[in-house]
Amino acid sequence: MIKDKKKTQYNRPPEFQSKVVSPYSADLGETLKRILERHRVRTISKPIVKLSTVLASGKDAVPATKRRGVVCEIPSWSCEHRYIGETKRSLSTRLKEHHRDTLPRNIPKIPDKTELTKHPAQSGHAFNWDYAHVLHHVNSYHKRIFLESLHYYLKTNTVNDKSANFPAIY
Ligand SMILES: [Zn+2]
Repeated sequence: MIKDKKKTQYNRPPEFQSKVVSPYSADLGETLKRILERHRVRTISKPIVKLSTVLASGKDAVPATKRRGVVCEIPSWSCEHRYIGETKRSLSTRLKEHHRDTLPRNIPKIPDKTELTKHPAQSGHAFNWDYAHVLHHVNSYHKRIFLESLHYYLKTNTVNDKSANFPAIY
């Protein structure tokens, strides 16, 4: 008997429309997973071992920090606060821009540009660029905005402005 592969695939119910791969985070993992499942996005959690292990698929040789489309977290050096951000560019490109924006000579020019410049300006703390890390690798702009908002609404000690509107489409 010849198995009808095409038919089998066609009949499979489309349970999830897409997926995100995230390093496992105890304070957010289960909540994030539940919310995303309501939006038919499957989460695949992996332990934080190496950024390259979490994000790289076997056939992709581009380093994780060079891959475009990320939601990232940058901790403060001096307190428990952290910044959550998203960019269509790579983490390494974004970090260079963030770092430039938070240099003391640039802060007076752009005090309200982002929460990332406000925290150093208000507290005197620097961000710990070496511990900046990718939370999600997502190509879709809307998913990045959604995930970014989820992280800063659900996590404690974020420097992001929580009074900003949650994306209306969600
Ligand atoms: Zn701080």
